[in-house]
Amino acid sequence: MQLLSKTKKQPTNSPALVISGYGKYSQIQTSNQTLYTATRRKNVALPVAGDKVEYQTSNNNEVIITALLPRKNTLSRLNKPVAANIDYLLLVVCLSPKYRLDLIDRYLIVANMLNIPIKILVNKIDLTNDLAPIKSDFQAFVEAGYDLNYFSLNNKQGTDLLLADLDNQTYLIVGQSGVGKSSLINFLMPDLDLKTQAISNNQEGKHTTSNTILYPLNNGAIIDSPGVREFELDDLTALDIQSGFVEIHALSQGCKFRNCIHINEPKCAVKIALEAGILNTRRYKNYAYLMSSAR
Ligand code: GDP
Ligand code: ZN
Repeated sequence: MQLLSKTKKQPTNSPALVISGYGKYSQIQTSNQTLYTATRRKNVALPVAGDKVEYQTSNNNEVIITALLPRKNTLSRLNKPVAANIDYLLLVVCLSPKYRLDLIDRYLIVANMLNIPIKILVNKIDLTNDLAPIKSDFQAFVEAGYDLNYFSLNNKQGTDLLLADLDNQTYLIVGQSGVGKSSLINFLMPDLDLKTQAISNNQEGKHTTSNTILYPLNNGAIIDSPGVREFELDDLTALDIQSGFVEIHALSQGCKFRNCIHINEPKCAVKIALEAGILNTRRYKNYAYLMSSAR
């Protein structure tokens, strides 16, 4: 009997999802939705929200992370990973404080740099009776191929479509302060209070606004990382800008010169498209402006 129990092998669990990390501790959610506070083996790198990990439970009910599974991507801030395995960025903008199209351009450039697709969510449409001018503002993004939703969390206009759109993926939510990011998370997770309570039910980690947290959502998840909500949007290189305006990048295949930057060159397919009204003037102007101040 003695011998048997000594050699008893740990059962292999299917990987758990990391909800958040607090220094030495990680909150993990197992495949059967149980939440644990886990420590990790010495050789295991710090897991972040969105990570998949292998873990074991010991006899005295301690949970230990034994391996960090390979990441699809890592989002870092100040050279420290804060989130992993992100399928989509969700950029929330709204009518008040009014969206800034030039800022949206910059978020789209960053998404392109990160090689992560991005959806634009336009919230608070209850604040207007006439959506037409707003739709016209966003038309260039739609034409460039971006996913876009108009909705109001206040009167639930457009939220059915939004819900149907958000599934099976891990989203990282970004956007300026006051646009409704927290409201959106609360809307998507009606039982959030319960869940956050379960998560903060350990003496080590109290929730602070600086913690990156993953909220499980249907079959997917939303990650809220206060530090990256408002990206570092400055310091874009010329190359980042050129490829980050995706419709300009596509047009550039037709330019005479391979190194054409679409400002003053002859036989520039981008300028031709601009003059023909195929390329959005505002987008092009912002492109030219950003290029003039690029590294
Ligand atoms: P966050 O800073 O991006 O997390 O924004 P919050 O979720 O805190 O929301 C900022 C404010 O916008 C709050 O006062 C919300 O009640 C309000 N808000 C959120 N959604 C809507 C909406 O659909 N319509 C209107 N009019 N206000 C909203
Ligand atoms: Zn060109």
